[in-house]
Amino acid sequence: MKIYKAAIIGLGSSGLAVNKLIYDNKDNEVIAFDNANINNRNNYFGFWLTNWMKPYENLIEKKWNSWQISNNNLKIIHSDENHPYCVISFENWKKFCLDTKNKFKLVNKKVIKYFPKENFYKIITEDNKEYLAEKIYDSRFKKKRNNELIQHFYGITINTNDNTFNDKKITLMHFTKVENFLHFIYILPFSHNKALIESTVFSKNNLSENWYKEQINKYLKENSINVTQELSYEKGIIPMFFADEKKSPYPNIFNIGIRGGACKASTGYAFAFLVKQIQLLKKTNSKEINIHSFIEKKMDQVFLNYLKNNNEYGDSFIKIAKNLNGNEFQDFMMGQSTFKTKFKIIKSMPKFPFIKALFG
Ligand SMILES: Cc1cc2nc3c(=O)[nH]c(=O)nc-3n(C[C@H](O)[C@H](O)[C@H](O)COP(=O)(O)OP(=O)(O)OC[C@H]3O[C@@H](n4cnc5c(N)ncnc54)[C@H](O)[C@@H]3O)c2cc1C
Repeated sequence: MKIYKAAIIGLGSSGLAVNKLIYDNKDNEVIAFDNANINNRNNYFGFWLTNWMKPYENLIEKKWNSWQISNNNLKIIHSDENHPYCVISFENWKKFCLDTKNKFKLVNKKVIKYFPKENFYKIITEDNKEYLAEKIYDSRFKKKRNNELIQHFYGITINTNDNTFNDKKITLMHFTKVENFLHFIYILPFSHNKALIESTVFSKNNLSENWYKEQINKYLKENSINVTQELSYEKGIIPMFFADEKKSPYPNIFNIGIRGGACKASTGYAFAFLVKQIQLLKKTNSKEINIHSFIEKKMDQVFLNYLKNNNEYGDSFIKIAKNLNGNEFQDFMMGQSTFKTKFKIIKSMPKFPFIKALFG
């Protein structure tokens, strides 16, 4: 029976990164499994440009140097000339990561389990077929956990009348007051008449597609935006808890992507972090890759405890944004903030509820 050098379980963003960043060599035989058809997937991954993302600059579809965090009463605009907000589409990432010199095979099946077998691992798929590999990279993760928050969203890429959008600035979060929901609109203007507009909620349960569509339509109407064409759609659920799974006791089994702890739980940003995770995995081969520092994880946890226990409409996010400049804000979002910035963030948070959340 053939023994593959590596088996990738789940060919999403991190599985793809493993194929390209670790196994792009003609001697490698790699097998990947995904129960979904990855060709049906497309969405945009946003991140602020960091040094570790610079090698992929030619995959970036658009960069913006300014971003807005707002509600109907207040508008905070940040700028950073050196660290723009960028997007890469899943389609571009997939194309890049599958363009390798190795021998790569994709099996469109669900993996049920795997276990050690002599010096290898045996992988069993839903149809009871067996495959052997020297190493396993596992990216399966639980999107929901009892009593934990999730970030859930639905977005539409639209064409509009000319000169509708300022394509130099994104709307990162425009909070709208929807009863009992922490809801915001996210807008990526690709040009003056084309944008992705997304409705996002932080709550314990996701909602029907129609719910998000209503919020998008409401926003479009309030802002007199006239849609001439709907081009594409994206939707998703991202865990707002630390979704990292226990490390396997066996060698050569690596948890990657969100499963490996790449997601910044308070924001749902994961893409740039999972790329960093795979870059580090290539260098160290260690199973202990901590992408987010202890202090940032603790801050996230306190903030999420606060969000879970307090109904709010985005005021904390706006306050944090107000107290930071663009450079400090993007540094924090990308896990690179200084102690001074962290202190400014802690100072921005409402005192009593946060002390409660700290011990919650
Ligand atoms: C629509 C959308 C937009 C997002 N936008 C951003 C963004 O702007 N910025 C950002 O930083 N992050 C964003 N994220 C979050 C995060 O970056 C992505 O979720 C990213 O794809 C996570 O990569 P992953 O490899 O951990 O998981 P995934 O990409 O979800 O890959 C896991 C794969 O495993 C497969 N799978 C699951 N179970 C099995 C099984 N038993 N057998 C075989 N295959 C299996 C799934 O089908 C899936 O393809 C977004 C997420 C979504 C869904």
